[in-house]
Amino acid sequence: MRVYPPLLLLVILCANLFVSAGAWAAEPAAMPDAQVLVNPQNPIPAYLEPQHLMSVSSFARANNNVYLREDAAQALKAMLAALKQAGVKDTVYINSGYRNFVRQGELYAAKVSSYRKQGYAETQARAMAARWVLPAGESEHQTGLAVDISTAGVSYELIDSFAKTAAGKWLHEHCVEYGFIVRYTAAKEEFTSVASEPWHFRYVGSDHAVYMREHDLCLEEYHALLIEQRQLLFVNSSGGNRAVYYSTGDISANLPGTVLSVSIARRHSDEYIITMSPPPVPLFDTLGHWGEQYIRSLYELRLINGYPDGSFRPNAPVSRGEFVTMFSRLPLPVFAEEKVPLAVAEEQYTPPDDTAPQYSTQNEVNTENKAGLPPYPDIDESKYYYQPLTLCFRATLVQPMLVYDVQPQLFQPEKALLRREAALMMAALMTSENFHPSAYQAYYDVSPDARVLYQAVDMLTKRGIFQGDGLGLFYPEREISRAEISAIFIRLLDALQNEEPPTVDAPTEDIEQEETGAPVTDNDADNGSIKN
Ligand SMILES: [Zn+2]
Repeated sequence: MRVYPPLLLLVILCANLFVSAGAWAAEPAAMPDAQVLVNPQNPIPAYLEPQHLMSVSSFARANNNVYLREDAAQALKAMLAALKQAGVKDTVYINSGYRNFVRQGELYAAKVSSYRKQGYAETQARAMAARWVLPAGESEHQTGLAVDISTAGVSYELIDSFAKTAAGKWLHEHCVEYGFIVRYTAAKEEFTSVASEPWHFRYVGSDHAVYMREHDLCLEEYHALLIEQRQLLFVNSSGGNRAVYYSTGDISANLPGTVLSVSIARRHSDEYIITMSPPPVPLFDTLGHWGEQYIRSLYELRLINGYPDGSFRPNAPVSRGEFVTMFSRLPLPVFAEEKVPLAVAEEQYTPPDDTAPQYSTQNEVNTENKAGLPPYPDIDESKYYYQPLTLCFRATLVQPMLVYDVQPQLFQPEKALLRREAALMMAALMTSENFHPSAYQAYYDVSPDARVLYQAVDMLTKRGIFQGDGLGLFYPEREISRAEISAIFIRLLDALQNEEPPTVDAPTEDIEQEETGAPVTDNDADNGSIKN
């Protein structure tokens, strides 16, 4: 089978990948910052006022004028209408909505003053007051996205027992469907620094609200997760896909799909939350990912599939079952001929006499059984991985992978693949004839005492298939992400095309960084960072 050089493939791919990605030019939804985070760490300046305020006084008691931002107001109307339809008898009133900077300051001052009257010192009074009424600039009531709701059952007071009323219970259960979250709960006080407020509802949009509910996240945690992951993908409540991106600065970059909203993440920053309806582009969640080139090359070669929702989940760990499945699709002679693998040095995979203490020396797998079926008792013939596993087993590739396992008699298909396991399996494809092991230990965490692994890692590093963190660590016990394994597969195919295995320098790879986040440098064993 012909193996395409990855770079050639990329040129072809890049030429048509972004043709339909001009959706950014479309007008994003109005009132864009429904997911904005406002709290003591992220205050709003006095001059920032919400646009599109709308009266919701008809839901408030007489003479109480309450305003919300239009999107929040419409959602509130729908939610309160549904509450009535659901047969909840409790009369519901809204207590407060939008407050300006000055009003918020007055409320806070009044609260501080009441604690002062009780005899507390100024500093303590301020701290205590802030648990209930935030100082000017720190309250999300200033965004017009927050509303306090109460009922006749608790005399329209804003108290904890609201949560136990019929209306309170219904609202807590259903608010996310209308885009509201219960913003301050006792369980999340460490993140919000605000005491439980079961009456305070915050509009964030239903996609986001449902996601936060399902993953038990408060708004602070949701932002933190977005910043960490950069993108979240989920199916929203009405069954459509959602891609939520966190972006800083330039948001005019091409993004796939239809932009539903662009939200300012924090009022003081140039960070954005972009909510999109992703297009039917396969592997849409790999766009912009460091592993995109590798993943797309494998996809184009029909060696990997995404998930049915069109995603690839590049950051998710690879299970052993997924690994052998991907592996078995590689265009390797060892599978085409269904024979003994390409020059496997058989003695290489007998268990080492002496191993590093962290590894077991057991190896009870029968490596003679080349033509047989995989003997592992924990595998299921009806599962997707069974045929691929059989193929890999017959090629004597699975057995070396399990050499250091505590239980090498089991395959554990759902277990996350470790770097050492992938390395051992891939090294089994290589000839060791012309291979001269390094005189120097390339990685602090791969001991020459673990002879088989040491040799495998040495060989794969020299051929540029595996890389360490550039600082002398290989992380043999670390899980591999789907993006990492894609990069490794491409480099493996590339290396196998070279007839002569390099004995000096590994070819320089174009990869920017591995999942470790550390810059990847030349990992040749002779490099100067090696100490012993
Ligand atoms: Zn409130």
